[in-house]
Formats: sequence, C-alpha cells, structure tokens
Amino acid sequence: MRLGLRAFAAAVVAAACGCAPELPETAVAGRDEPSRVGAVEVTNEPLAWVAGRLGGPLVEVRFRAAEATDPATWKPTTEDILAMQEADLIMLNGASYEGWLKDVSLPISRLVDTTAAARDRLISVAETVTHSHGPEGEHEHAGTAFTTWLDPTLLAEQARAAAAALAARWPEHEELFAEGLAALAADLAALDAELEAATAPAGDRPLVFSHPVYQYFQRRYGLVGESVHFEPDVMPDADQWAELDRLLEHGGARWMVWEEEPIGEIRAALSERGVGVLVVAPCATPPPGGDFLAVMRGNAEALRAAFGAAR
Ligand SMILES: [Zn+2]
Repeated sequence: MRLGLRAFAAAVVAAACGCAPELPETAVAGRDEPSRVGAVEVTNEPLAWVAGRLGGPLVEVRFRAAEATDPATWKPTTEDILAMQEADLIMLNGASYEGWLKDVSLPISRLVDTTAAARDRLISVAETVTHSHGPEGEHEHAGTAFTTWLDPTLLAEQARAAAAALAARWPEHEELFAEGLAALAADLAALDAELEAATAPAGDRPLVFSHPVYQYFQRRYGLVGESVHFEPDVMPDADQWAELDRLLEHGGARWMVWEEEPIGEIRAALSERGVGVLVVAPCATPPPGGDFLAVMRGNAEALRAAFGAAR
C-alpha cells in the first residue's frame, strides 16, 4: 500500500508539471493502486475536477447534475437525495449556487461550502437581470453571483476548502491531499497568469456579455462591459436586440462574450452590428473533450486571439 501511494503521489506531481501522468507499470496493474476510501458528491464540473485532482483514485467523485443543461438550475430527485445522504462528503459551490439545498435534508456535518471562507469576496447581484426564455424556461439571476470559479484565485480558495475537508474526513491521507492541492494551486496560478496576459490588451475597451455569469471574471481581469441575458441556442426577440443595441451605442463594444458558440442566426445578426463572438466557456458541466483546465486554457487562447495578445 505504501508503495502504491508513492506511485500515485508521483503521478500527481507528474500531472502538475504538465507531463503525461503515467503510472509505473506495477501501479497500472492494479495491485499497488490505493484502494477506494469513500465517495464525494460535487455540484459542478469545476468541483468535480478539483475533487478528482485532490482525491485521485482514493475517492469516487460523483457529479449528479453532469447531464443538466446548467447545474445551477438543477433539481435533485428523491433518488439523488438518498444517494447523496450516503456520501462521505458533499462539496458545494456555495454563493447561492445550490438553490435546491433549502428544500432537502442532508447531513450538515458532511456538507462542505467551498466558498464559505471566501464570503467577503463574493459579489451580490443588486438587480434581478432580465428573464430568458431558454429551453428550461425562465430563470433569473438574483442574490449572489455564483460563477466564482472563473476567477482562478477564488477556485484555488475553493480547492483549499475541499482539501481541508478531505483531510478532516481521511486524516491518514492528509499528505496526499496536500500534495494534490500544491500541484493544483500551481496549475491555477499559471492559468491566472495566462488569463491576465490574454486580457491585458483589452484595456478599457468595453465588451458586452451575453449572460450575467462573468462577474468574478470581469473583476479579476478588470474587464469593462455590461451584460444582457441571451441564450446561445435561442434567437433573441426584438426587445432583447434593442437592449443590446442600446449597450453597443453606449459603449461601442466590438466583442460579445458567450458561454458557448451561439447559433448561426445570432452570429450573423452580431456580425451585421460589427460585433464578434468570443467564447469564454464557464465549463459547469463535463466538457466533450479534455478537462476543466484545458477548457480554461482554451478560453485564454480565444481571448488572446481576440485582443491580439502576444503568446
Ligand atoms: Zn441566465
């Protein structure tokens, strides 16, 4: 077991330096691999990635809202609740992300609000933003902005809270979780520097945001701009376009930031207005390829290309 853990720790370090996390053959064979100690529930992809990086093969990471259009509007079924009650830890994004939490009964001692310690860095949403008629019906953004992880320094705080909870639950593996956290924090610091460099040339040039989920991202990188409430797969109505036109007249934005590539009809209507599409994916659900970090690096690449930053 001791050798197995060393092999795993080596793999974690290897992953941190960007090399392929290849385990030695003996570990791959299975006998030396650390055995599962328990299960952790998470509520979005950033936390699934964090828990996976910290807990590695020791902990089974379960993400029930993975198939949801947006985990922020997901509602657990009775089966989900029963299964969550059995988990060792339930890692929450906090910042009002888990709206369903108030309606269910879960063991408080196992709930981990990963933004609780960062409460003074959370952003309140003063006004309720325009409704949207997406595939899941209307929803609004009120209370606290929740897309905390788009500020990598906040996600690093969340990872610290997750690592502390893992170490409290399984103190015998504390060292391993600490090593995982160090590697992950290094990756997030590098990502933060990459995003900083990619967004720096934007300066005071205003952007327009398609959805009110970029508050922490804007604050971290000093990006100027206002948000409408469009969905990438629903053609906005005349009122929504009028609202955008008012913002464009006001600020003169050349780029509109989207959660994903909008439909062609939207892209064409933006192009007529001289506005380009810039995808900065929040990655709240599992990406089709790569992992959360790869998606964030893809965002940095898109920003670099848009603002003409040097590599
Ligand atoms: Zn929305």
